[in-house]
Amino acid sequence: MHELSMADAMVKTVLDVAEKNNATEVIEVTIEIGKLTMLNPEQLKFLLDVIVENTLLEGAKINIEEIPVELNCNICEYKGLADMDDSDHYLAIVKCPKCGERNVEITTGRECNVKNIKIEKEEEV
Ligand SMILES: [Zn+2]
Repeated sequence: MHELSMADAMVKTVLDVAEKNNATEVIEVTIEIGKLTMLNPEQLKFLLDVIVENTLLEGAKINIEEIPVELNCNICEYKGLADMDDSDHYLAIVKCPKCGERNVEITTGRECNVKNIKIEKEEEV
């Protein structure tokens, strides 16, 4: 499952950062998901909640931000939001909303990052 491997990788990234910073607890995590990744945010959130059990991330607030698809059209030079037919979730066709061409350069929408991590640190004595 696509979501599961992504969720797993994200939790590893966050835990890695938390450990390097001597975190005692992770309070909040913000994740960016581009629409083109075809990840289902609800499913991802659900999986994350399961994976984080018994880790530093348990109880952390997990925010998922969806990044819309934007493009630069190579035909009419339109720049902006894509016209996406997402009726079929697994086969996204990105087209220029102005001229309808598929000869476009996608500028955003492929993100899959851990954007922000808030941690609690051990008090220095
Ligand atoms: Zn165009």
